[in-house]
Amino acid sequence: MRRRLRLAYGVIPVTGKPGYNAAPGDVDRHPSPTSAFPARTVMTVVDRKQDFEHNKLAKRLRRQAGQAIADFGMIEEGDKIMVCLSGGKDSYTLLDLLLQLQAKAPVRFELVAVNLDQKQPDFPEHVLPDYLGALGVDFTILEQDTYSVVKRVVPEGKTMCSLCSRLRRGALYTHATRHGFTKIALGHHRDDIAATFLMNLFFHAKLATMPPKLLSDDGQHVVIRPLAYCKEADIARYAQLRGFPIIPCNLCGSQENLQRKQVGRLLAEWERTAPGRVDQIVRALGDVRPSQLADRSLFDFHALGRHSAAPLPDTHAWLAGEPVEKPHVELHSLPQLSTHADDGLGILMS
Ligand code: SF4
Repeated sequence: MRRRLRLAYGVIPVTGKPGYNAAPGDVDRHPSPTSAFPARTVMTVVDRKQDFEHNKLAKRLRRQAGQAIADFGMIEEGDKIMVCLSGGKDSYTLLDLLLQLQAKAPVRFELVAVNLDQKQPDFPEHVLPDYLGALGVDFTILEQDTYSVVKRVVPEGKTMCSLCSRLRRGALYTHATRHGFTKIALGHHRDDIAATFLMNLFFHAKLATMPPKLLSDDGQHVVIRPLAYCKEADIARYAQLRGFPIIPCNLCGSQENLQRKQVGRLLAEWERTAPGRVDQIVRALGDVRPSQLADRSLFDFHALGRHSAAPLPDTHAWLAGEPVEKPHVELHSLPQLSTHADDGLGILMS
């Protein structure tokens, strides 16, 4: 079923028949409008080499998405998954890989692509319905004019992305609740996870990032990120080879968040000068050692090395040089001191 929901003004249903059959490995055997790479009747050696590379890329992305799904228990039998589709390379890739995995999965789960048309000027409304219709996937286009709200609220010259994303999330979560989706799939990838981690570290003094699987703050929704292990460069290449009809995310004229830009440049430079560093960052996120950090809520440093069960003195007052009230001790209970030590120091004799 395909439909267009105009959130502000009611519901306009559009119907159609699902039936996805495209997989990169099937390129030459089953050409279709959505095949991974165009079919060729006469293949040159260069064509073959390119197809080989393309299929290798498709397999790698599928394997990485499958691995992330398995590692984090993202999908189970009977799931109804809302795949958020913005029209960018990441979300197209996400939907494409999930459809391929669904075709082979031993468990049954449902996929519905959902796009929120935020009414940005010049948003090409026909692109996603045309693409999804040709693909034969269930989809819903939600319409909600968040663009006007953001324009009204955010002062001129300031980035609008934060409010825009919050409104988008709110609309999508509401839709997920109304329609009984058990999971919400987002297209964030490995580089997004690394960048968010560094942004939190540099600008918010937090060790945190967007996790591969997350329970929303209200406890109502489980968000999954099956591309968590996929490199952005691979996704960009894949999107290009698949010929996804990309819709740019700057129709609103907003500048990308400055901090995200800075971190993005940093990561790109690191990757250029020290290839593999982004991978290291993301792998480190899966190998956290609370006893080697300094978060007292995660590790009981006070209990470490204690040899007495007696309460510790008020360390803050003590270390700040403030007088600490000492417990009263009877003199006869103290150990005796010897006075014959020739170094002039008393030696404990108890
Ligand atoms: S670039 Fe525009 S549409 Fe994209 S998140 Fe930012 S404000 Fe929203």
